[in-house]
Amino acid sequence: MTDTEINDARFDALGLDPLIQRALDELGYTAPTPIQVKAVPAALQGRDIVGIAQTGTGKTAAFSLPILQRMLPHANTSASPARHPVRALILTPTRELALQVEESIRNFSRNTPFRILAIYGGVPMDPQVQALRKGVEILVATPGRLLDHLKSKLVNLGTVHHLVLDEADRMLDMGFIDDIRSIVAKVPAQRQTLFFSATFSPEIRKLADSLLTDPVTVEVARRNSPADLVNQQVVEIDAERKRGALLALIRERQLPQILVFCGTKIGANRLTQYLVREGVQAAAIHSDKTQGERIKALDAFKAGELNVLVATDVAARGIDIEQLPMVINFDLPGAAEDYVHRIGRTGRAGCPGEAVSFVSPEESRNLADIENLLKKPIARMAAPRLGGGPGGSERSSEGRRERGDERSRDTDGASGERSAERSPRRAGGDRVPRDLPLPSLRDPATEIDPMALPASAFQTPEQRRTLPPAPTRRRGQAEVPALLRPMPKADPAVS
Ligand code: AMP
Repeated sequence: MTDTEINDARFDALGLDPLIQRALDELGYTAPTPIQVKAVPAALQGRDIVGIAQTGTGKTAAFSLPILQRMLPHANTSASPARHPVRALILTPTRELALQVEESIRNFSRNTPFRILAIYGGVPMDPQVQALRKGVEILVATPGRLLDHLKSKLVNLGTVHHLVLDEADRMLDMGFIDDIRSIVAKVPAQRQTLFFSATFSPEIRKLADSLLTDPVTVEVARRNSPADLVNQQVVEIDAERKRGALLALIRERQLPQILVFCGTKIGANRLTQYLVREGVQAAAIHSDKTQGERIKALDAFKAGELNVLVATDVAARGIDIEQLPMVINFDLPGAAEDYVHRIGRTGRAGCPGEAVSFVSPEESRNLADIENLLKKPIARMAAPRLGGGPGGSERSSEGRRERGDERSRDTDGASGERSAERSPRRAGGDRVPRDLPLPSLRDPATEIDPMALPASAFQTPEQRRTLPPAPTRRRGQAEVPALLRPMPKADPAVS
């Protein structure tokens, strides 16, 4: 199929049932996306599919529409649970993606009586149990919670005909391989399997080979390449100046929605607190937030009540906002592939997007990995400035305090059981104080390096009274700023 044929394709040519076509018309889908053009006809024929496609390409419809159509002969309005066995199982890495997929399928199947349910961890089991008891034909699930329900024999996967693995690469990254294999073992071998992944590493190929039979491979966009519509830029900047630059960028662009990625939950919380203090409508989502808090923040972001959503990789997975104009990497991700996932949040469904990454000297290695993966350098842009000075008021000791937290990544699993976050403590076991008043600094143009200032310059009058004096420095030994020295006791006002 040529590019022109793909671009000119129409939904009528895909042979969708009028009930489904009507839903697409109602949703305002005028033409299929390339992944839909390529995958839908093969899936309608019952073929297994390996889809190499990022989020934002329309992959959810690419697997859902043919499944719905093939299930249509079984559609019924009976109240009996037995008439609504699980026929389609869709596995997703995170609860956000599960909810997103559920919402999409609900939309596509709005003119059918199919019952759809998303089950995921971090919320009480009981409402899910009640819904499962009534009978559900399409089950969207994160692996951990599905296994919990399987253990209590509430779900029977023996009736599944269509199995989807969505964002399979992410499921592997999150360590779900054993869970996936346990689940698939309960699904009949006679089934259709649709396997979607943004990247296609040897491990992913191995998993696909073990699960699929004679699949059709469909690929949109280059392997491991972010959407071409995204204008990517890098700001090379010291870690301690990132926050000021971010604030300046947010103020400069005045965009309705900006998604900011942080490497850690603590980093995300602190950055959000800072932005809120500076008058930005911002909220954080990460795996320590309850499902209710995440949904509330996401809804507010979607509704335009929040301009900035600060997220970790895990929590951001599955976020789908129409025409998200900008993604900012406040920290670069540890794995280059995650960069592709992150910036795939913008430049969606044909709309241009912008991705700006703040890269400190400590992250230059990660940047090199990303540029290697992209096979091209990312354009550099000057650091946005607050109030005319380089980094404005951000040239502070607080940035150094933040840096130590960047190691504890948000590693929560789909069911929210795993959380590898370390508390914000320095070597020596002392809690790092937050939100201390900053030392006043001179005009940025003539700014003195804060590292060169005596420890007392970083202390509040209260600290000067209560902290032990700085140890006398021996020749050649660096001054230890007071903030990095053990505190005598945790002060609830600042911890
Ligand atoms: P996905 O890649 O499935 O997450 O889809 C990304 C976004 O594209 C979602 O907001 C979908 O509603 C939208 N979308 C998917 N297919 C189409 C289409 N054919 N026409 C217009 N929008 C679409």
